[in-house]
Amino acid sequence: MDFGWTPAQRAVHDRMRALGAEADAAAPDERMRVLARGGALGLPIARDLGGEGLDLVTTALAYEGLGATLRDGGVLLAAGAHLFGVALLLARVGTPAQQRAWLPRMASGDCMATVAATEAGAGSDVASVQARADRTAAGYRLTGEKRYVTWADRADVYFAIARDGGEGRPGGAPARGLTALLVPRAGADAADAPRARAVADGPDAPRARAVADGPDAPRVRPGAPLATAGLRGARLAPVSFCGCEVGPDALLGRAGAGLAVFQIAMTYERALILAFRLGAMERALGEAVRFAREREIGGQSIARHEAVAHRVAQMKLRLETSRLLIYRAAWELDQGHRGQAEAALAKWHAADSAVLFALDDLRLRGGAGYLEESGLPSAVDDALGGSIHSGTSDVLATVVARWLGL
Ligand SMILES: Cc1cc2nc3c(=O)[nH]c(=O)nc-3n(C[C@H](O)[C@H](O)[C@H](O)COP(=O)(O)OP(=O)(O)OC[C@H]3O[C@@H](n4cnc5c(N)ncnc54)[C@H](O)[C@@H]3O)c2cc1C
Repeated sequence: MDFGWTPAQRAVHDRMRALGAEADAAAPDERMRVLARGGALGLPIARDLGGEGLDLVTTALAYEGLGATLRDGGVLLAAGAHLFGVALLLARVGTPAQQRAWLPRMASGDCMATVAATEAGAGSDVASVQARADRTAAGYRLTGEKRYVTWADRADVYFAIARDGGEGRPGGAPARGLTALLVPRAGADAADAPRARAVADGPDAPRARAVADGPDAPRVRPGAPLATAGLRGARLAPVSFCGCEVGPDALLGRAGAGLAVFQIAMTYERALILAFRLGAMERALGEAVRFAREREIGGQSIARHEAVAHRVAQMKLRLETSRLLIYRAAWELDQGHRGQAEAALAKWHAADSAVLFALDDLRLRGGAGYLEESGLPSAVDDALGGSIHSGTSDVLATVVARWLGL
């Protein structure tokens, strides 16, 4: 077992740290473009498909570097949904033609992808989705309402799960008959929908509304970003699929195997999506140590109080245990193992640790930590989001319990 980094891995980490700093200094709307230009959206994609061909352990290290300097966790979440939730899935289950069609553009950021699985009645229980993927002579027609979709209004392609009407295994779980589709925003429309969109975006509002409700309306309709507690940069929003027509080449994996495909996507996402958080925690820990040493009350540093010193020591423990589990999960996937339980352990522990870490960080500062300007209340809000997306901590605990045979 080797816990060291090679010079090449350190170089990637340092490059991503510098890129994160550049993105941090950019306007919020520009940050994803900065990440794309710097190669962050293609790191583990094969070289002949436009990426850098990095293994997942090194990719995790790269995202740790980004998180150390880019404070916008929402944008990093969206980058992770794109890369880990969709691009890696395509690299694993996509046909060569699908990979050639999508991965080079995803690696460069010219085409942004996201996961559209959650519905009003199907979040933790994704097998209950009600969106329909009806078979047509030309492929599938997708109809349904998804919600809480990261980067919803900016994505070019959606990895959607829908019910295909198939029966699957006799007497099987509700998982039967689910199909995974890759639905492009453009091209799923009626022929003259671009005209409808142009009108809908123009100054002629009443006519725009009429067109938007008419037969020429765009068939993929993302809503406006929601006012979330944290991670605003992730632009969570609903997406309506209104009879989107896609060809057979939109099918990911086998028809009817949508739940298994979704679980593969979630395994990559759970393993890697919080790697950036390690960098953010490392940065915050350094500042917490400095604060605990320098803040004096009654002529002595607050670090002299065991309660204070132990709080900071706990922050270090939470960071290091999260780090070990994330790299372990990435390593399992690099070895070609299934990695489902390791990914669940990593995401569960890192998400809950990040919440406790952020609370400790805030409490350490006393009243100053409660001021919005300290950034610490919003760090708590950001961390809380991590314990919900990609499987809540409750759901991940259940994955681990099942793995143990419980
Ligand atoms: C920041 C953020 C980003 C997100 N991004 C995306 C995205 O890009 N794409 C997407 O499709 N969705 C996304 N989501 C949605 C997210 O995946 C769901 O919110 C999550 O899966 C929970 O589903 P739900 O909200 O329907 O809650 P519910 O499933 O209704 O859960 C409610 C409560 O019940 C608990 N619970 C439910 N079932 C079980 C169970 N079997 N065992 C134990 N406890 C259970 C949950 O843990 C939770 O506490 C995002 C959410 C957030 C907060």
